[in-house]
Amino acid sequence: MSDVKTPEIDVMQGLKTVLTQIEAAVARRSKDLPQRTPTLVAVSKIKPVPLIIQAYDAGQRDFGENYVNELVEKATDSQIIEKCKDIKWHFIGHLQSNKINKLLSAPRLYMIQTVDSKKLADSLNKQWTKVRNGEEMLNIMVQVNTSGEEAKSGIEPFESVTMVEYVLKNCPSLKFNGLMTIGQYDYDMSLGPNPDFLKLIECRKEVCEKLKLDINEVEISMGMSCDFEQAVELGATTVRVGSNIFGARPPKN
Ligand SMILES: *Cc1c(COP(=O)(O)O)cnc(C)c1O
Repeated sequence: MSDVKTPEIDVMQGLKTVLTQIEAAVARRSKDLPQRTPTLVAVSKIKPVPLIIQAYDAGQRDFGENYVNELVEKATDSQIIEKCKDIKWHFIGHLQSNKINKLLSAPRLYMIQTVDSKKLADSLNKQWTKVRNGEEMLNIMVQVNTSGEEAKSGIEPFESVTMVEYVLKNCPSLKFNGLMTIGQYDYDMSLGPNPDFLKLIECRKEVCEKLKLDINEVEISMGMSCDFEQAVELGATTVRVGSNIFGARPPKN
């Protein structure tokens, strides 16, 4: 074990490979799906600032973090501020209400993908109005717990319509962008399309029908390193990919 080295990471190559795979998956999409080009969110959690700058220099703009402190630390890093002027930060972790103000203070915060209660939506709406004084809306997605696992955050699928309706009617500072799911981690794709992906697609359909929204305007954020190609094939408009770009993370215990 003594001479185990950190593997050399080629972020530019990783990014290029993922983008090529996304393009190929788009080409395999059924033609009746909304043909929106997917956004790649590069998930940089645990990864250091220099790797983020490498990805930015290679053309990547959207980055995802799932801890508030880490996002704010990176977003306020002097190198990032100087070299990554158009960076867009996506928050993709569980948001506790006592961290809202800190998160909203982050420069170039672009989207919160994990709004999972009316209470959180209300607090974000209220705080964002104070922070930005009504100048621009805060992009959000509603997180749906498609796998029904207790450990995962998100509203129940059947609550999608009422939750989205609530945001549209009561949260004028929030811009509803779409639905997001994490889903089951170890789904065996040889069994067919991931049921979490299918469920999220179904939720969007219902939301669009009941609330008369244009399906082309409502995103679905699903798919990570192990399954983003299948997600895109099924219609994902945002994928969140970490390891395949930045290298594997140490296992979580
Ligand atoms: C870590 C994380 C990802 C990316 O995971 P990879 O397997 O490294 O691609 C995507 N979404 C969320 C919510 C995450 O926490």
